[in-house]
Amino acid sequence: MKFINKFDRYITVIFFFTIITIVATSYFTFKEFFSLHSQRQQQAIIPLYSLITNEIVRPLTIAQFMANDKFLIDYAQQDKIETALLFDYISTLAKQFQLLSFVALEKHNLMIDANNKITSLFDEEAEWFYRLKKLEALQFADIGNSVDPHLYFDVKIMNDKQEFLGFAGVAVDLDQFAKTFSQFYQRFGFEVFFVDENDNITLSSSALMKTDSHHRKSELVNINSLDWYQSYLQQQGESEKNKTSIDNSFPSYIESEFIISQLPLKDLNWRVFIVAPEASQQSEYWLLFFSKLVIFILVSLVLYYLFNIAINYFKVNLVKDSETDHLTKLPNRSFIHWKYSELNQKHDNVCVVIADIDNFKAINDSYGHLIGDDALKIIANKLSESLRNVDLAGRWGGEEFIILLPDTTAEQALEIIDRIRVSIENISFSDGSSDQTFNITVSFGISDSSLAGIPLKEIISKADKALYQAKENGRNQVVIHLE
Ligand code: GH3
Ligand code: MG
Ligand code: MG
Repeated sequence: MKFINKFDRYITVIFFFTIITIVATSYFTFKEFFSLHSQRQQQAIIPLYSLITNEIVRPLTIAQFMANDKFLIDYAQQDKIETALLFDYISTLAKQFQLLSFVALEKHNLMIDANNKITSLFDEEAEWFYRLKKLEALQFADIGNSVDPHLYFDVKIMNDKQEFLGFAGVAVDLDQFAKTFSQFYQRFGFEVFFVDENDNITLSSSALMKTDSHHRKSELVNINSLDWYQSYLQQQGESEKNKTSIDNSFPSYIESEFIISQLPLKDLNWRVFIVAPEASQQSEYWLLFFSKLVIFILVSLVLYYLFNIAINYFKVNLVKDSETDHLTKLPNRSFIHWKYSELNQKHDNVCVVIADIDNFKAINDSYGHLIGDDALKIIANKLSESLRNVDLAGRWGGEEFIILLPDTTAEQALEIIDRIRVSIENISFSDGSSDQTFNITVSFGISDSSLAGIPLKEIISKADKALYQAKENGRNQVVIHLE
């Protein structure tokens, strides 16, 4: 029993230790993952830069190339032009660079693109032409066409006398643009913001993406209204507010609650911000971790409960089995030992009696071992049924039994045991085959050292001496050991 309680405690400790180990390991793995993720994020910023350069700077360069092409400048000034020739020129470039290029010429009142779409400059679609012409700058990035938004890079075509002839430009499909950046968002949580010289967000990889700068001016988002930008400014100090970093051609990088990286796009007077919340700050990850943890703990507790039921079921049977003598179903020697020490703790004295069947060898010899076994069972049964609940009768080995009587003096024990001796003596045992019956007697030795705390071995050797005396005296009697 003591062992079983210990076993229970061990199982509980092992179970919870395992759970704690798993939880701790997961926690540290998760932390490790975060730091790895942060590292990857930082590493991924570099390819993101080249992507931005590719997506923004390359089309702008192509538009600049067209606007400065001598052929186009000369051709635009001719009185008569052939649209087929212009289309040829535009579409060759478009094919080469995989971009939608276009040319708009004021003198000929036409805009032609790489799809051979020809539009008058007075058309509503060409609204941008006169709007941008009025402006002083030579090149623009403009978002147009609210149905199928494109980012247009428009560069003024000027002749030698610095007279305005029209625009050469390239259009970038914003859906394509969004797709390119979305993979960075999915993998690293990066958001990309393009900000113009007025701090307005012209483009972003998030929902603001399609903010149509001139069609929907009221919907423009100023970067100052964003939380991460404010914390970025605080980190950068006053100098950043004056935008001195625009002149800085190197990207600046700040890590706080967010990983923020700034890249100037000098040609457009824009700035690009790459913003990612630091992985460890991403509360949804932790939320995920803790929700999984709660589920894990709940499942573990249910498992623990079921495991305990199963263990208890086996335990009750196994333990009973290991403590019981198979033949007589009485407690065996190891249980007697355990029971004796338990009684010792709870009671002031425990009287120990040893019982030995008389001439049992002869019974085996006369009637056979099976009859002998039956006799053992009957006697065992008689012993246990004649005792109080607090007492214990167990099989010590062979045809010997031990009886433990708590809070009983040797004299009281003598009385009780003698009654049992007589009742056994009166049992008629059958030999199994004929009507013939036989009797069995038992001799008992009682130890007079009934004080608690004495080792069982010692007390039994005293009872044994009394038993020997009983046998000497002619068997079938109860003897108390006297010092
Ligand atoms: P005594 O009165 O001096 O005790 O004589 P005894 O014959 O009982 O003593 P002994 O020690 O010579 O013999 C004990 C016998 O008990 C021998 C053994 O065959 C028998 N015995 C022990 N265990 C079992 C058992 O489980 N089943 C059967 N059938 N016999 C057993
Ligand atoms: Mg014996
Ligand atoms: Mg015997």
